[in-house]
Amino acid sequence: MKKIAFFSIPAHGHTNPMLPVAAALAARGNLVRFYSFNEFKEKIEKTGAAFISCDSFLPELNAPEKRKLKAVSTTEMTVQDIRITLRMDSFLNAEFSAFRPDVVYADSVCFWGKLTAWKHSVPLVVSTSTFAFNQFSSRYIKNSPKELADMIFGLPKISKELKKLEPYGYHVQNVLSLIQNDNDTDTVVYTSEKFQPYAESFSARYAFVGPSVFSTLSPQKEKKRPLIYISLGTVINDRPDFYKKCILALQDMNAEVIISCGNTMPPARLGTLPPNVQIYAEVNQLEVLSKADVFITHCGMNSVSESLYMATPMVLFPQTGEQHAAARRVTEVGAGKLLKKVSPESIKSTVQEILNTPSYAKAAAICSADFRSCPGPSGAAEFIENAPHTV
Ligand code: UDP
Repeated sequence: MKKIAFFSIPAHGHTNPMLPVAAALAARGNLVRFYSFNEFKEKIEKTGAAFISCDSFLPELNAPEKRKLKAVSTTEMTVQDIRITLRMDSFLNAEFSAFRPDVVYADSVCFWGKLTAWKHSVPLVVSTSTFAFNQFSSRYIKNSPKELADMIFGLPKISKELKKLEPYGYHVQNVLSLIQNDNDTDTVVYTSEKFQPYAESFSARYAFVGPSVFSTLSPQKEKKRPLIYISLGTVINDRPDFYKKCILALQDMNAEVIISCGNTMPPARLGTLPPNVQIYAEVNQLEVLSKADVFITHCGMNSVSESLYMATPMVLFPQTGEQHAAARRVTEVGAGKLLKKVSPESIKSTVQEILNTPSYAKAAAICSADFRSCPGPSGAAEFIENAPHTV
């Protein structure tokens, strides 16, 4: 039996894949303490892990900070990560003295988890909810000029914030050493070796375990008419303009349409819906994907993995640099097509092309078989139990 401390940031995309791993570790008799946030309490407790609330350490944000975080500014996220680390310092020192974890399992951008592991010399395993990125695979990232400007002009601010960590016993050379994957750190990645770009450039300290999902469903595509599923994930989803264009594109098609729009935009904002369209704040995405024939997606890594796991080809509408990386890989394997223009005509023709060209569904089915042959959450659990690894 091992004592394992889990750490994630307050984001579904980062927390979701850690949950089946926590459940697998708990089922194998380990003691899991999951440091997270109240919105995930119920899901975490269901895994058999102890939930530790960290909400009180989240700083009050002013309006510009909120705006930048909503726009997924890397600089703002880094600055806030450092602030949270400092606010949690004495709490986590006391926790680690009492709990004495054997291993820390921390999301790759959860600074307070990684830094606390380093400070207390506890073996660290990193949970990577995107592809693993090094100097080769990061060529897949296509940052917009706005994202690049945010990163470049944010560097002095980040360096200043990083200096505040030193007096607390956190030694950080630069921000890259905190964020980037390296070949000396035990790392779990929720994709297959085949799907990971440049997989051969990563050391044996990487475990490519495949998608980490709870679902026991298999793809089930037989039905009277196609099902088209639309979601922009849980972060940048306040896009009534985009949903309206999708509705215009698909309202006359002989197909069912399900839109998951998130909690920011009230579904009623889209007005009266055509009879073939249903909209929800949230759905059981894996269940919908098991039946869907096309997924119009923002290409968050979890959404892409879940889509391929359920053998669903995609219309790709990436918004961030990392999402562009996932989109590029999907087009390389032939399981999706990039949405060239955000217009009803372009959405309609891309959906039709995917429905009418069997090779897309076939490529997605091949990925599904590959993902389902991966070690999954129990493989990740075994890897974490046996950390630290040697090359
Ligand atoms: N999700 C869900 N129901 C929904 C929409 C999304 O359960 O209605 C889940 C989805 O299954 C995935 C996560 O939210 O696990 C979204 O993560 P992703 O990496 O795709 O995108 P992000 O939200 O981080 O941009």
